[in-house]
Parts: sequence; C-alpha cells; structure tokens
Amino acid sequence: MAAETRRKVGRPRRRWTMLRRVVQYGALFAFVVLFVETRRGGWPGTVVNLPMRLDPLAMLAHLLSSRTFLAGSALALVTVALTLVCGRAWCGWLCPLGTLLDLFPLRRWRGRSRLPDSWRRAKYLLLLTILAAAVLTNLTLLISDPLTIVFRTLSASLWPALDRLITAAEATLYQIRALRPAVLAFDALIRPRLFPPQPVSYRYALWYAGALVAVIALNLVGQRFWCRYLCPLGALLGLLSKAGVLRREVNERCNQCGACARVCPTSTIRPEKGYASDPGECTMCLECLTVCPQRAVGFPAHLSLAEWNHYDPSRREALIALGVAAAGFSIFRSGLFAMRDHPWLIRPPGARENNLLSKCIRCGQCIRACPTGAIQPAIGEAGLEGLWTPVLVPRLGYCDYSCNACGQVCPVQAIPPLSLPEKRQQVIGKAHVDPDRCIACGVCEEMCPVPNKAVRLEWVGMQYGDGTTVRVQRPRVFRGRCIGCGVCEYYCPVDGEAAIRVYAP
Ligand code: SF4
Repeated sequence: MAAETRRKVGRPRRRWTMLRRVVQYGALFAFVVLFVETRRGGWPGTVVNLPMRLDPLAMLAHLLSSRTFLAGSALALVTVALTLVCGRAWCGWLCPLGTLLDLFPLRRWRGRSRLPDSWRRAKYLLLLTILAAAVLTNLTLLISDPLTIVFRTLSASLWPALDRLITAAEATLYQIRALRPAVLAFDALIRPRLFPPQPVSYRYALWYAGALVAVIALNLVGQRFWCRYLCPLGALLGLLSKAGVLRREVNERCNQCGACARVCPTSTIRPEKGYASDPGECTMCLECLTVCPQRAVGFPAHLSLAEWNHYDPSRREALIALGVAAAGFSIFRSGLFAMRDHPWLIRPPGARENNLLSKCIRCGQCIRACPTGAIQPAIGEAGLEGLWTPVLVPRLGYCDYSCNACGQVCPVQAIPPLSLPEKRQQVIGKAHVDPDRCIACGVCEEMCPVPNKAVRLEWVGMQYGDGTTVRVQRPRVFRGRCIGCGVCEYYCPVDGEAAIRVYAP
C-alpha cells in the first residue's frame, strides 16, 4: 500500500516537460523554415504566411482597420479554438518568442523579489489601445506583436548578419586554393535557397536586433517578463482563456510545499489563495504538474468562466485605451508626423498609400521576400503613422523587373498579389537625372529593364562661360515609360548620392 502511494504521489511527471520542449522546438524550427522559404521562388505565399494568419491579434486588428475580411485570416480561429479549450497553450507551447524566452531564461542573474501583479495590467492596456487604434485605421502598434517582432528581426537583422558572416568566412577560405571547389560548392548550395544572391543590408538593423535583445533581457527582471506584463497577443489569449475549458486546479492532497509556485514561469500561482492560479496568466506549461510531489495538480474541464482579477481590464481602462488611441491617431495624422508626400516614399508595386497604412501588419514578410533588399522598413519616410511599413530604397536595392514576390507573400494583401505582367505595369516612382553629378557613363541606359528603355543617352549642347558650345552626352528620362524600379539609381557608379535618383511618382 505504501509502495502504491509512493508510486502515485512521489514520481515526477517529467514526460510533460519533455513533450512541451519537443513541441516548442519543433514549432520554432517550423517558423524558421517558413521564414527561409519566404523568398522569391520559395514556397507559396499561402504556406509561408501561415504563422501570421494563425495570429488572432494581427488578424483581428487587420479586420478592424481595413474593414475587409480575408478568407485566409479565418485560420486565426484555430488559435482561438485552441485557447478556448487549452487556455494560453499557444504561449507555453507554440509561440516562437515564448520559446526564445525559455531558451534564454537568464536565471542566474535574476533578483528574487516578487513583481507587483498590477503590472500585468500594462499588456491589457496595450491590447485595448491596439484594437482601438485599429478601429481608427491605424496599425502602428502591431510592431509589438510577438510574431512580427521575431519575423522582422530575422528578416532585417539576424539573417543578413548571418549571411555576411558566412560570406566573410567563404572569402577567407577561398584564399586557400585547395578549398576553392568546396567553397564554391557550398555557396551554390546555400544561394539563393537560404540567402539572396548578393548579401543585402538593412538600415537600422541594429535597432531591430536591439528590440529583440531587450525583450529577452527583460527575463533578468522576471522569467517571461514580456509574456506576463507586456505581450498584447498574450493579453488577448489571456482574456479568451477565462472561458477556457481545461484549467489548472489544486486538490486536497496539496501539502503547501510551494514547489509549484517556485517553478511557475509567469508567477501566477498564489500561495495565499491555496496555490490556485489565474487561467488568463497560466501558459499551460505544466511545470507545476511535473514538480508536484503530491500529484495535487490537475487540469480538469470547466464550463464556467474564471473569476476576474484586480489587474484584468475594467470599463474605465477600456475608455482610457480608446482615448489614448484617438489622441495617438490625431497626432499621427497631424502635419507633424504624417508624411504622405515625402519625396522618397516609394511603396512596393501596387500598394496604395491609404490602403497600405490600414492593412500592413508590420510583419516584414515582404522584406524577406525581396531578393535585392530594396524593400526596407520605413523609419522617417512615412511618419509615425507608417513606421516599419515597407518602402523601397533604390540605392540599397532595386525592384527586379522579373519579380513579384512581395505581393505573393503578404498575408493581408497590403501589397496586392499581382501577376508578373500586372506588376510590370505598376509605376512606383519616377527617375530624375542630376546633371551636376552625372558622368554620362551610360550604365543607367544599359540596366533599364523597360522595353524601349525609359532612359537613354542623348547628345545635348552645353555652353561654356566664353560662349562656346560643345556637344556632350546626357541621360534623358522618358517619364511616360519610367516605372521607377530604381535599377538605374542602384547601379549608378557615382560615389555617394546617385546621379540618377528615383522619387515618389
Ligand atoms: S505572451 Fe506573447 S510572447 Fe509570450 S508566449 Fe504568449 S504570445 Fe508569445
């Protein structure tokens, strides 16, 4: 009998932890594979943008802001259904940012003080503000969605950095004659499957990496600090979890040893409440189930709603969030921050300014798909309203005439999915020649991909101060033919600012 009790009570149930780890790493790996395949010639857009369409916050905000329902966004209901059955299992088992936070727990350096529960309110306020702003057609705050953070950082910082590292290593090894065939074979293997044909660079790449590092560094203050206090997606799933069927419960076998409270990553197990937890904060990691020596923890089914806590959003806070969103919206739209007419505000093919602003969820998939690195996240060009929406920067990359990848991978059709012939008709900018910088080398004419060439060298007369006239060659842009792809600006050999520049049409 004693042995039977020991078997029932004493054996930790580690298989749950193991299973969760396997699922977490599998999901993170799948996320990275889908990221890699979000390239020109990679997997179809409907496959690679699966994670974004599973994100209920991004899809709901898009629906509110654009007032259009995309059939593909219904996939977010899978996550909603998962949450209504298993609570915030997304956070504990599937979210790539959550898995990164578990991979870097930074436990060794952490203080032991308990953080105030009232801080949890911050994420609900952020969630409500995002949704209120979306109703007012602004999606800027989606930059704080966990999936967009991870994807954007991968696109604009980590992957290009890895590319440069590998390129430098290849260049070093290529110096050794015997290794050249191996280096060439390796390069052919990884390009263009993993990396673009040429390494690309992104402006402010360190900032994106810094944002992810900062989110991870918050683990120094408390484990999964981001998930507990800041994540707006976690807040949405937390609210849904109040109606979740499977919820944690502690039975009478509990001897108050406190093991579960010590391992809870979101610190939601309350000794003063008999070691009960809040389903809105529990990420279903099952660590408490694993460590409980009494087997007092279970996850039975419930059909009633969980109780509301003091940090859960109140009507007053919803009104505050609406007010903040309305104020932010007016400021963003004011002349101070809105930059609808910026001369370098060149958008990807087919994207219309108002449409783009009310649809773009700032995921960065188009950035990854662009093979030349032309699409960059906007910093100043589109004002605060358009922060981190896609802009083309021709000096860093050009819009390839034979490519329509950005529109194919965009999960919300902020960049329309145009066929190649349609995309070639899109005028995204117009080239202008700076005669003071031009050296008449003819590269722009040579590179221009448009049939009949939108830029040609012409002979023009130039008058000197003494009245003599000489005939020189100068490029002339035929505005009716120019589509603003930027290939001329990209290849212009003049140092610094190009002698031919593309401006918004
Ligand atoms: S709280 Fe946010 S970041 Fe944390 S696991 Fe959940 S969705 Fe991911």
